[in-house]
Amino acid sequence: MDFLVLFLFYVALVLIGGVMICICSKTHYLKGLVRGGAQIISSIIPECLQRAMLKLLHYLFHTRNHTFILLHLVLQGMVYSEYTWEVFGYCRELEFPLHYLLLPYLLLIVNLVFFTLSCVSNPGTITKANELSFLQVYEFDEVMFSKNMKCSTCNLRKPARSKHCSVCNRCVHRFDHHCVWVNNCIGAWNARYFLLYLLTLTASAGTMAMVSTVFLVQLVVLSDLYLETYVDDLGHFQVVDIVFLIQCSFC
Ligand SMILES: [Zn+2]
Ligand SMILES: [Zn+2]
Repeated sequence: MDFLVLFLFYVALVLIGGVMICICSKTHYLKGLVRGGAQIISSIIPECLQRAMLKLLHYLFHTRNHTFILLHLVLQGMVYSEYTWEVFGYCRELEFPLHYLLLPYLLLIVNLVFFTLSCVSNPGTITKANELSFLQVYEFDEVMFSKNMKCSTCNLRKPARSKHCSVCNRCVHRFDHHCVWVNNCIGAWNARYFLLYLLTLTASAGTMAMVSTVFLVQLVVLSDLYLETYVDDLGHFQVVDIVFLIQCSFC
């Protein structure tokens, strides 16, 4: 099947999946569907394999480990290798401005700095020593957070907007979530690093996509490909159109 058709099919599938989840999550239909699917899968897969899978999932998502940090670095390395070998060299030959081509590398350095900070920084762990100061930061609403509430695991008083992270086994001030990609909680003290990490990651992907698109357009213009004809599956001569050009650019 043609690349463009496959790609559009994939995008449509993702969009339909997202919309279905949004619609079904408001009803009990999705829960029933997931439970039914799990029952069918559990009757097919042997019990020992199911136990091994549950153990692996527990290790990956419910314990602190470096798996996703390594995966992140490997994926980032692969993307930048592809950019360096497939785009950067050819763009230099086409005399693209150097500062324009180096922008993704600069963003990578900044991104790795904030990634490291998100991984190693203290998210705002509540301890016996700082418990009192955290208790004064936000007012208790007496609905979700009451003044005398204690964390049953840490045995410390719970400041408003704090939460116990079961993965890290600690209470975190202004807890947002536990992120497996940085193997750390995101809380009051490291949320800014995490946001800057996401921002620079998006910016680096955006600049690479932009450089690659300009490069592909330049290739089409220089090769005069849009003036050519091609023979289709039925043996007829066809004039090159925009769909053919997009498909050719990814071949
Ligand atoms: Zn706790
Ligand atoms: Zn955590």
